[in-house]
Amino acid sequence: MNALKLTAKTTRPPTVIQVGHARIGEGFTIIAGPCSVESEEQTLQTARAVKAAGADLLRGGAFKPRTSPYAFQGLGLEGLKFLEKARAETGLPVVTEVIDPRDVSWVAEYVDVLQIGARNMQNFSLLKEVGKSGKPILLKRGMYSTLDEWLLCAEYILSEGNPHVILCERGIRSFEKYTRNTLDLSAVPSLKELTHLPVVVDPSHATGRLSLIKPMSLAAVAAGADGIMVEVHHKPCEAMCDGDQSLTPEAFVELVGEVRRLRAFLDGKG
Ligand code: PEP
Ligand code: MN
Repeated sequence: MNALKLTAKTTRPPTVIQVGHARIGEGFTIIAGPCSVESEEQTLQTARAVKAAGADLLRGGAFKPRTSPYAFQGLGLEGLKFLEKARAETGLPVVTEVIDPRDVSWVAEYVDVLQIGARNMQNFSLLKEVGKSGKPILLKRGMYSTLDEWLLCAEYILSEGNPHVILCERGIRSFEKYTRNTLDLSAVPSLKELTHLPVVVDPSHATGRLSLIKPMSLAAVAAGADGIMVEVHHKPCEAMCDGDQSLTPEAFVELVGEVRRLRAFLDGKG
């Protein structure tokens, strides 16, 4: 392991990040919403549904880092405006991905948390820029990255004076093809040994399979995660991106209930 000057567990007490009413790193935080912002109606309907089900934050991509240059790239500024509207109506703070260092300062004005996607985990100029933004950062694990490399990326952000980093395990590449990626759940207790930063799990991108979202969410709770981030769409079959792994609002209601019950039980409050 490389020396961790700012993220090591020994350097400070567990980091708690207040976003809206959520205290990320203390309670169990549920982040939910569509893969991509597609339209005003889709964003508002999904936001209302996840709010009613008890989500703490709304997610939605306006800038999509797609594997193919021909796939839907996101609505950009228009998408951010839909997210802003959804926040105003529901009160849910918003998480959105930023993919270009030149966009960081203006995108930060529209949202509450900036996401660095798996494909950009080691984009060091982007990390430095979000480090200067003053916003909480959700840093996803690169699909080929070790915990050491991931934590060094968090160090880039902290060393710019931004202590508000949330780590998000989203699966790593393995030879297994049944799932989209391989969820590395041992990363959660491992990170708890190594760092004071909060850790959330994204079972949607980790598995790519609807049927696996609930079991892996419950496993994330049991592993000690500080939260989950899941994709929800008001009509998954019409989604422009990741419909196969998006929960319906009804399935999300059930998931929230089971996750909260397990967490309360493990906290001795069940
Ligand atoms: C996302 O969360 O929208 C996303 C693109 O995920 P990842 O960067 O983990 O692939
Ligand atoms: Mn997605």
